[in-house]
Amino acid sequence: MKNNIKIDTKLIHSGEPKPKIGGAVSIPIFQSAMYEYTGENSYHDIKYIRLNNTPNHIAIQEKLAALENAESSLVTASGMAAITASLLTFLGQEDHFLVQDTLYGGTHTFVNHEIEKWGIKFDFIDGTSSDSWEEKLRPQTKAIYVESMTNPLLQVTDLRAVAEFAKKHNLISIVDNTFPSPINFRPAEWDFDLSCHSCTKYLNGHSDIVAGCVIGSTELIGKITQQLNHLGGTLDPHACFLLHRGVKTLSLRMTRHNKSALKIAQFLERHPAVERVNYPGLETNPHYKRAKELFDGFSGMLSFELKGGLESANQFLKKVTLLVIAPSLGGVESLVTLPATTSHSGMSQEERQRIGISDSLVRMSIGIEDRDDLIADLEQALS
Ligand code: PLP
Repeated sequence: MKNNIKIDTKLIHSGEPKPKIGGAVSIPIFQSAMYEYTGENSYHDIKYIRLNNTPNHIAIQEKLAALENAESSLVTASGMAAITASLLTFLGQEDHFLVQDTLYGGTHTFVNHEIEKWGIKFDFIDGTSSDSWEEKLRPQTKAIYVESMTNPLLQVTDLRAVAEFAKKHNLISIVDNTFPSPINFRPAEWDFDLSCHSCTKYLNGHSDIVAGCVIGSTELIGKITQQLNHLGGTLDPHACFLLHRGVKTLSLRMTRHNKSALKIAQFLERHPAVERVNYPGLETNPHYKRAKELFDGFSGMLSFELKGGLESANQFLKKVTLLVIAPSLGGVESLVTLPATTSHSGMSQEERQRIGISDSLVRMSIGIEDRDDLIADLEQALS
C-alpha cells in the first residue's frame, strides 16, 4: 500500500490478503501448525507457526510495517520477546551498547541483571540529553536503545539526537515506541533503524492478549526473524487474529486517549491534593516543546505524586471506583497502579530512586470511558 495513504486507511486496508481468502472480509484464524511443502529451499521459509509465516502472521506484519512507513515487521509472543530478540540479534560476546537509564522495568532488569550472561556490555545514558553519550562510546559499541516516552515518568527522549548519533557512529538505533503508538510517533520517519512495541498495549488495545512486534527495514527484520525462529518467541495465530482485529480501531482509540489524558492531566495539575503531574502535553512540563515537535499526540499515559506520599497514594487507590487497579496499560479501560509494586518491582528501591521513581508515584493509563465520569471518580477519590 502506498505511503501517501493516511494511517486511518492503512489501519483498515494494509496487509489484508488480496484476493480475500475464501472471500472472507475479516481474515480467518489459520489454526494449522504446519503447511504443505511447496518447494521452499530455506528452513526459514517452510510454513510453520514457529517461523512466524502463516497467513495470519503475514497479514498483521504487513499492516504494522505500513503504519510506521517502514518496510517490514515481525510479530512476537510478547513485547519482551521483541526487545530481547532484537538486542540478541545484533549484540554478542564483547559487544557494547548504550541504553537509556529510565526504561520499562522488565527491559531495565533484563539489561542490568541478565544481558551480561551473553558477554554483552552496556552503559546507561540519560536519553533526554546527548551531552555525555560520546564519552561512553567504545570501539565495540554497536547499538543505542531508548524508549520514545519513558515508563512511568513520561520523559520525552531526545529522539532526533539519538537517530543522528546512531547514524554518525554507525550504531543500530532501537526505540521502544509502545507509549506513543504509531499514531503519535513513527520512528522510521525520524531515521530510527528499529521500533519495538508491546502490542499488549495500544496496538491491540483490548487487554486480552500479550504480544509484541519489531518494525524496520527488510534486511534487519530478516535477521531478527531468523534469531526469533530459534529463540521460539512466536505469536500464536489466534493472538495474531485478535491483534489484527484490535489494531483496526487504533486511531479512534488513540485520539480519545490523547484528548482525555490531557484533560485529566490538566485537572490533576490544578488539584490541591496533587504535588506533581508527569505528562508531556502540559505546557508546564519540561519536555513539552520536544514532545510537540516529535509527537502528533501525547498518549493516554500519565503519572503523578500526591501530597502526603505513600499513605495518600494508598488511600487514593482504595477510593477509586471506575479505574481498575492493575498493571499494564493501553487498553480501552482506565487502569491505575503504583509502578514500584508492579511494572518496576523487579528493580531495587535504590535503582528506582536513582532514576526518580518513588514508592508513592501513581501511574494511570487513561481509557476511552467518558472523560467527565473519570474526572468525577478522581475528584471523589482525591477529596
Ligand atoms: N515496553 C514497555 C514500554 C512496556 O510498558 C512493557 C510492558 O509493560 C513492555 C515493553 C513489555 O511488554 P510485554 O508485557 O508485552 O512483554
